[in-house]
Amino acid sequence: MQPEPKKCYICGRESVFYSEYLKQALCKKHLERMLTKRIRSTLISKNYKQRKFRLSSDGSDGYKIEKFVFREDANSSLKLMNFTLEDFSLSVLDYFLTGSKPKQKIGSKTFFNPLYNTSDLEIAAFLASKGEKTKPRKITKRQKYLMDFIRDIEKRRPGGMLSMVKMGEKIGII
Ligand SMILES: [Zn+2]
Repeated sequence: MQPEPKKCYICGRESVFYSEYLKQALCKKHLERMLTKRIRSTLISKNYKQRKFRLSSDGSDGYKIEKFVFREDANSSLKLMNFTLEDFSLSVLDYFLTGSKPKQKIGSKTFFNPLYNTSDLEIAAFLASKGEKTKPRKITKRQKYLMDFIRDIEKRRPGGMLSMVKMGEKIGII
């Protein structure tokens, strides 16, 4: 791994996150701007028209970041779920290894996962920059094994998780 550059590539301030995939270091402000924009645009790219959403308050890091990014409305017809890029790449990998169909879809008429292309690491950096506590997810031994495998792929080929998720979408399993 290359050493982390210290300066934000946009404004030159001290960075809080380095994306191996984008090869960009970002300060607090620009990390927030980049993630907020990306997470919101997932809805637009999938043609959801709602502007307010029901959130799934499960106390996960995904829920915490969604609270920053979206406006809540208990009566909205669209519920936002908190599964992340890691969750979806795990289930796609599992499908290829065992044939077991993923339980979670990216979205439907009634729910959507706006973090499906955002990594746990990006979410954790965002929350840390807001002074929010993050907690490691609870995973089984098998998921841990698959996760280590995925982290290894990502290290050798940044963007590997995204490619896996795109493949899963293409063949219609997530
Ligand atoms: Zn910056």
